[in-house]
Amino acid sequence: MGLRENIARVRAQLDQAARAAGRDPSEITLLAATKTQGPEAIRAAIQAGVTVCGENRVQELAAHLDEGAYGGAQVHFIGHLQTNKVKYVVGRVALIHSVSSDKLLRAIAAQADRLGLVQDILLEVNLAGEASKSGFAPESAPDAARLAARLGGVRLRGLMCIPPRAVRPGDNLPYFQKLRRLAVDITREMLDNSIDMDVLSMGMSGDYTDAVAAGSTCVRVGSALFGPRPPMSSTHD
Ligand SMILES: *Cc1c(COP(=O)(O)O)cnc(C)c1O
Repeated sequence: MGLRENIARVRAQLDQAARAAGRDPSEITLLAATKTQGPEAIRAAIQAGVTVCGENRVQELAAHLDEGAYGGAQVHFIGHLQTNKVKYVVGRVALIHSVSSDKLLRAIAAQADRLGLVQDILLEVNLAGEASKSGFAPESAPDAARLAARLGGVRLRGLMCIPPRAVRPGDNLPYFQKLRRLAVDITREMLDNSIDMDVLSMGMSGDYTDAVAAGSTCVRVGSALFGPRPPMSSTHD
């Protein structure tokens, strides 16, 4: 199937999952995870109705920005980000999904301050405690949210997770529900800081309908749109 058909099919499934959960389909953003895709594929996706692209790697982000590949769409950063590379990302993307440590949070805030802007961010939460993945432990996410609220330069918009790969439908539902509860708890705790978390970034090609059932507002979908990816040399920069 072609890109256009894939986008239409995924969007229809998202809309159906939203309605089944009593939600308004317009609350759910379909972010196209564009890693390994070239500028032509990105432009084609935007032509076919994609409104948000998500990049994993600083190098690909920089190249695609230079090529003007995102014309007409927003770009978000969703990959592992090293502190020494924040200068290539802050102020160039609408939202950074993958803020995974206090150190990175402070570095993003400092760079935003230098540029005189406010960077929208999400905190990445490592729900399953996987050693191979970045992110705050669920117990330390509230402290990270308080830190974000204190720092100028960043606006905390919500939470993000990358649970283990789902084998069967429903496998990741408990993780998604956990992230949602965590977001609700943090928001409740931080009312005095007027933190308004309205983004839950969860759900990928294998589990996006479960994520929507659990309250996702942004699913990050790659292979279900673009087809299988060639193996990457590394998942990190
Ligand atoms: C690659 C990637 C996705 C999309 O993965 P698919 O399984 O291809 O849909 C989503 N989120 C992040 C952070 C990714 O790196």
